[in-house]
Amino acid sequence: MRGLSVRDERSLKFAESELRRVLRRLSIEGLASHVHFQILGRSHSGPLGDLKSDGFAIVPAAGEYQIVSRSARGLVYGVYGLLESLGCRWYFPGVEGEHVPLRPASPPGRMIVENPDTSHRSVVAFWDRTGAGRQERIRENLDFAVRSRYNCFYLHWPQGLHSAMKLARDHGGGLDIGIKLHIARQLLPTRLFSSHPEWFRLQDGKRTRDYNLCVSNPQALAEVTRNAQKLTESMDVDITDYSYWQDDVPNAWCQCPSCSRLSSSEQNLRLMKAILKGVKAHTPRGQVSYLAYYATVARPQSSRIPKGLFLEFAPHACCYRHDLDDPRCPKNAALVEHLKQNLERFGTKTSRVFEYWLDVALFSSYRSPVRRLPFLMDRISHDVSFYRGLGLTEVETVQWMLPAGVENAPEVANPGFALLPRLLWNPRQDVAGFVREFSRNFYGSERASAVLRAAAQADRVNPRYLCTPNDRGSGPKQAARLLKQAVERCQELEGAVTGHHRERLVGLRKALRYDLKRAEAGDA
Ligand SMILES: [Zn+2]
Ligand SMILES: [Zn+2]
Repeated sequence: MRGLSVRDERSLKFAESELRRVLRRLSIEGLASHVHFQILGRSHSGPLGDLKSDGFAIVPAAGEYQIVSRSARGLVYGVYGLLESLGCRWYFPGVEGEHVPLRPASPPGRMIVENPDTSHRSVVAFWDRTGAGRQERIRENLDFAVRSRYNCFYLHWPQGLHSAMKLARDHGGGLDIGIKLHIARQLLPTRLFSSHPEWFRLQDGKRTRDYNLCVSNPQALAEVTRNAQKLTESMDVDITDYSYWQDDVPNAWCQCPSCSRLSSSEQNLRLMKAILKGVKAHTPRGQVSYLAYYATVARPQSSRIPKGLFLEFAPHACCYRHDLDDPRCPKNAALVEHLKQNLERFGTKTSRVFEYWLDVALFSSYRSPVRRLPFLMDRISHDVSFYRGLGLTEVETVQWMLPAGVENAPEVANPGFALLPRLLWNPRQDVAGFVREFSRNFYGSERASAVLRAAAQADRVNPRYLCTPNDRGSGPKQAARLLKQAVERCQELEGAVTGHHRERLVGLRKALRYDLKRAEAGDA
């Protein structure tokens, strides 16, 4: 193919090498020479004229297979689409997360056309606790993201950012690489505190340099603008949306007489406007994310939102017992109301949700060792439909970068990792069918889905995820009953499978038993 950019050339090479690698694992390497690639011109209006930019078609004809897309990244997805039709699956980052069937299915006999339902599907790779083998871990997380058909990958950690950014851009397989940082403190460095204490926020009558700033001080905001411009100049990223967020604390805003008249959200809006100015000074097309979470979850007071500022809504404090739009849940109802009001301010078209369904850190209370990630498959499916119903087309998910092997650890192994991106691609997924297939591929028996189902039901009544602290109800008892069922089913099944399938089930049972003990003690 001629006229490709360096980046597209790299994506295409990646597509070809992945195709060969996996076909070799399937012992049908010869098929690779019958697979051809084509990028459609922008003006193409033939039978595939409806393909979206990330979409692809697989066109079989006389034993040859043409993978067609409008973009090089679409060809990468097409390769995985073809490999999936042979029975391959990717459940987690890393070697263990790749499922390659013993006997591949036949390649498609008829044309396959696939287009993504949502336009922005991104992973926010959270922090870096990967320890040794860090580079390899970043690569594995990138590979998993592109195999799952996400299209953006954000680095959300402060250490070694520039080398990670370079690695991600070189190895992204067509993913757009961006950054997300809680960085207000760095944009107004503490060294300025002694000369300009009035630039910093007032708390209980005293200026403090811990978090954020005084957003009523024009000089402080000008300093933020300058530093945001400098920071943007140093960022080697693919996308022009920047997330330079407020500091990561629940509520630390200024109490000076001028700021006290402003809500936390309004203070955040002022901070983001100053940042946007700096970003635009470097990149006129640049955009800045306004993060609504914790104290900034309510919409800002002023209705004038500058062009280039887009909403990122993070339902961090939601209840996992109920679906997000369940009217019986006061906690979620309040969040949904905030979301709707924010959407009125910011508009739906460019707004995003920042979700935590798979945030191992959150569900482990940000402590080691990690705890079992709840099975929220139905909840994820329901929430994705809810967001789509509101007209949202941009969904991000936080994913903790974990040390090698931890994703497959029984505490963390969860069909949600692969299910979510499939739902973002096609919300009409058969969730139960997917879980049965996962059970067969990962645990060696479809019957494992009954274990997962019982555990999933327990997770929805687990006292850890209650609406309000007072609403303990029969949660612990019900959770204990369901977990006991899950543990028993798991134990029964262990005798029916062998090898690594058995090891995985034993690990799952241990994780479930731990939760059972907690539930029996009435403890979360
Ligand atoms: Zn102030
Ligand atoms: Zn609730």
